[in-house]
Amino acid sequence: MTGEKDKKLCSGCTACAVACPCGAIEMRPDSWGFLYPAVNQARCTKCGICGSVCAFHSIEDDSPPPAFAYAVRHRDISQLERSQSGAAFIALSDRILERGGVVYGAGYSDHFKVMHKRAASPRGRDDFRGSKYVQSYLGNIFREIKRDLLLGKDVLFSGTPCQVAGLYSCVESPLREKLYLVDLVCHGVIGPYIWRDYLKYLEHRHKKRIVSVHFRDKRFGWRSYRETFRFNNGRTVTPDFFIYRDSLLRPSCGSCPFAGLKHLSDITIGDFWGIEKSFPEMGADNKGCSLLFCNTRKGEELFGEIADRVQCRQVKTEACLQPNLVSPTRIPRHRSYLEWIYRIGGFVPVWISLILLATTKRTAHRIKLRLS
Ligand SMILES: Cc1cc2nc3c(=O)[nH]c(=O)nc-3n(C[C@H](O)[C@H](O)[C@H](O)COP(=O)(O)OP(=O)(O)OC[C@H]3O[C@@H](n4cnc5c(N)ncnc54)[C@H](O)[C@@H]3O)c2cc1C
Repeated sequence: MTGEKDKKLCSGCTACAVACPCGAIEMRPDSWGFLYPAVNQARCTKCGICGSVCAFHSIEDDSPPPAFAYAVRHRDISQLERSQSGAAFIALSDRILERGGVVYGAGYSDHFKVMHKRAASPRGRDDFRGSKYVQSYLGNIFREIKRDLLLGKDVLFSGTPCQVAGLYSCVESPLREKLYLVDLVCHGVIGPYIWRDYLKYLEHRHKKRIVSVHFRDKRFGWRSYRETFRFNNGRTVTPDFFIYRDSLLRPSCGSCPFAGLKHLSDITIGDFWGIEKSFPEMGADNKGCSLLFCNTRKGEELFGEIADRVQCRQVKTEACLQPNLVSPTRIPRHRSYLEWIYRIGGFVPVWISLILLATTKRTAHRIKLRLS
């Protein structure tokens, strides 16, 4: 089992398991469902390939950070309304599909388990729309991608920066020519078991089955952080308390080497917060605007090919910085306490603790304001 210290240095990207020539590495879940590599010592030949492909340890990137970024919005309002930000991902992936390529992204399966999937049509790809703040299950997806690349297909992979870095490191450079890597500005991901148990808890409380989920429901506006759950009796619920909390993130999110301007992707996308101040025509309607960085020449070329379907403004990088483009998210110290509670009592005591911690913090803040 991976130790506490090592946990901060492993994003679970699966690169080591995919690259191991002896099949000696298996990804195993910890108590919150985050996957970590477990080495079968009987099979291991100590060749060192696993260490050499580890995105956290071995990737050196000497390229300068991008000097410019873009504010991007799909011209088709219906695309904008269905995607999380400005639908930059839709414009990019549509282009790859038009070329006869395939798209990989995070969708749902098996009662809202978040997992990476392959899509060869816009309909299949639409499952990837929307941010899911849970670590997605990669399974054997890197192997599938390699197969598509060997067949000469254009492949667009979208995921968190650590997943993209993992894929980058296990695809040999000649094969990378047709691989388009799109990563996200990323705050971090919560544990799959926490998510699974949260859904069970809501279903138990409302005595109905969940039929749809939105982590940030755009019907309340792009800037709102409102999770919605629709049940099979047609009722929609918006809990007051958000499950996406820093204390539920993967330990490695707190030491993420990609929380900055250097990413291994061709293109990085996120939300362009504050766009309404510099370009009101792109943000005042609260329908969403993407922030986009071209990190490579290949990224610039692909972006050039979608110019006719998006509105676009160039801005200096300094003008669009946000916390996770500067440093990793700080993981609260009480995370280990929550992990312990989960081990002995399951999800409900964790949920109650989170609410109590947040209420205490709010009350302390109010008292401090009154006293000052
Ligand atoms: C965990 C997470 C944290 C984020 N943190 C920030 C942040 O701090 N600041 C910021 O500006 N933006 C952040 N984003 C990105 C932002 O919310 C949008 O997802 C992004 O701008 C794409 O929007 P879109 O309209 O172009 O794409 P959409 O059409 O909405 O498509 C969503 C894209 O996100 C990918 N995706 C969704 N969920 C996951 C997942 N669990 N793992 C991997 N990939 C996933 C899909 O594959 C797809 O490419 C985060 C996204 C996620 C998933």
